Amino acid sequence: MSEFAGRVAMVTGAGSGIGEATARLFAAAGARVIVQDIDPERVATTVAAIKRAGGEAVGAAYSVADEASLRRSVEETGGVDILVNNAGVPGFNAVIEDIDRAAYERLFEIHVWGTLAATRAVLPGMKAKGYGRIVNIASNRGQVGFERSSHYAAAKAAVIGFAKSWAREFAPHGILVNALAPGVVRSGMTLRYGQEALDEEAQLNLVKRWAEPDEIAGWILFITGPRGGFMTGQLVCPNGGDPIVGI
Ligand code: NAD
Repeated sequence: MSEFAGRVAMVTGAGSGIGEATARLFAAAGARVIVQDIDPERVATTVAAIKRAGGEAVGAAYSVADEASLRRSVEETGGVDILVNNAGVPGFNAVIEDIDRAAYERLFEIHVWGTLAATRAVLPGMKAKGYGRIVNIASNRGQVGFERSSHYAAAKAAVIGFAKSWAREFAPHGILVNALAPGVVRSGMTLRYGQEALDEEAQLNLVKRWAEPDEIAGWILFITGPRGGFMTGQLVCPNGGDPIVGI
């Protein structure tokens, strides 16, 4: 499959879970992938796995909040066609009384500022080419809220707002921007809460299971691929049928 031949895709938080799966599937479909993640070991593992499978990948190990490094990675690869703003951390079960300024700033720096910084880094090249695809990874929690992690829910709602606004700003340049709001996915993030919590969360949707990262990555590839045109400013919801969001 070479649907993405000649394309460069940058995936933030590509060392684990949804990001790792997305990077792997992009490479398998012919894209050159920038594997961005704050964890150097995870970056090395993902890059090595892609190369072992015959794909092309370069590592970019630094925080997604580091705009200068993001710009350098984009320059070194000669521009990015597809950006997946995926890097994220959980809210760690905090009621509002426990969300101090540092906890709030950490979440917003990674999810919100990181999404803005990465987008700004790829934008000049996309504008010059008149082509680009951007996906912001939100969450169903950005739609329905999250008791004990309201700062996480707020950060995820923010990246939906970014996608809708940037769709308007970038459409004249051939750049499509969408957001994706997964339901519960078995990943490094959710496994930190324990298998029991994952099982409980899975009971909230209609299909009564969690998703595997590849199932979410498949939607990302579809939206950004040759068959995913004519859609921008939308929120795509692979959530197993979330009765609270609405079906
Ligand atoms: P994960 O923990 O498996 O992977 C997240 C990756 O982001 C990790 O490799 C981590 O090192 C990286 N990361 C953390 N901070 C970073 C930083 N400052 N800069 C760069 N990379 C950083 O989690 P996941 O479940 O695959 O989450 C991916 C995205 O999907 C997140 O934005 C998350 O909020 C979102 N999401 C996850 C679920 C779920 O159920 N797992 C549901 C909805 C949305």
